[in-house]
Amino acid sequence: MILRHSSLEGLLSTLSTGARVYVPAKADGVTKFVLYSSSVRPDFSITNTTMPPKDLLFPQTQHMYRYGTDAEGVPYVEPVHDADDVIVFGMRPCDVRSIECMDDVFLTKGFVDVSYQAKRERLLMVAMACTAPAPTCFCNSMGLCPTAAPLADILLRPAGATDASGDTAYLVEAQSEKGQAALAQWESYKATDTSDADFEPVSAAVSCSLKVSMVGVKDKLEAMFDHPIWEQLSKKCITCGTCTFVCPTCHCFDISQENRLSEGTRFRCWDSCMFTAYTEMAGGHNPRASKSARVRQRFMHKLCFFEQRYGKTLCVGCGRCVEKCPVALDITCLIDQIGAADVAY
Ligand code: SF4
Ligand code: SF4
Repeated sequence: MILRHSSLEGLLSTLSTGARVYVPAKADGVTKFVLYSSSVRPDFSITNTTMPPKDLLFPQTQHMYRYGTDAEGVPYVEPVHDADDVIVFGMRPCDVRSIECMDDVFLTKGFVDVSYQAKRERLLMVAMACTAPAPTCFCNSMGLCPTAAPLADILLRPAGATDASGDTAYLVEAQSEKGQAALAQWESYKATDTSDADFEPVSAAVSCSLKVSMVGVKDKLEAMFDHPIWEQLSKKCITCGTCTFVCPTCHCFDISQENRLSEGTRFRCWDSCMFTAYTEMAGGHNPRASKSARVRQRFMHKLCFFEQRYGKTLCVGCGRCVEKCPVALDITCLIDQIGAADVAY
């Protein structure tokens, strides 16, 4: 199916009658996935939104359950599941891959997070292939392709200027049964004056200019737990947590509660392994009290521990932390340094 860019607004309006549709846009001074409405201007030229779409499955603050005693004094616990049909429209391939990592954490190895599962089952991912990766993108090096998103339900690949007015077009392909079923709603927006064969979609040749070598990185890290590199690297970190909050795969959270008379609510909030309090225990012991231990944990988790457990890195090469870290503690430089490090320290 071919979809012209000029048809997108109409399509989004139609889709939003049956689901909450999120699109890349600027809101409150930051680019993120914003709930579509007639007053929202989607911007599909944004390569990577500053905030990733992970909050649609793993909200920044989320009620988990309510508890208390009823009028007869009988205790109760009520889970809170607030899943709606959600369409994320215009996800980049790295963000789609990040959902694969989140699925590993919240749905596998015998642990099912019921809240995540409820949201995940009602999520439709519409991906948009990249044509011009940002200078900070390095997804190729992490085993991804900027123009492919296998886990997405529907993939849009830009196909360049196609008519005299310069209206661009997308080649639309369903990649799952859910995506195939969803395309029925798109039919009335497809271009009828042309066919798929007339188009040359962006090819796999699109590539990131920033490259790192991941060859042997996991194995080397396994031997570098006590390496002096962590002390050196962590010196400039100000433990602000920015890298973890903008990362599409970071998923640390804290659980807390609010009590009012005989009722209360338990909720969870994003937390960060870069914060001292994250690992502080009730008795005061902290296994990661030093900054170097926390910096080591973050990079070890991304590039070693997650691969040991799930067979893939916890970094998708989106480059958000590279761009946003205020002191330029750059994961791509770290990967280079690990490659060059002497493990016989
Ligand atoms: S964004 Fe940079 S300074 Fe802030 S916690 Fe992460 S590595 Fe440290
Ligand atoms: S570690 Fe950095 S580059 Fe990797 S997925 Fe997270 S934000 Fe993106």
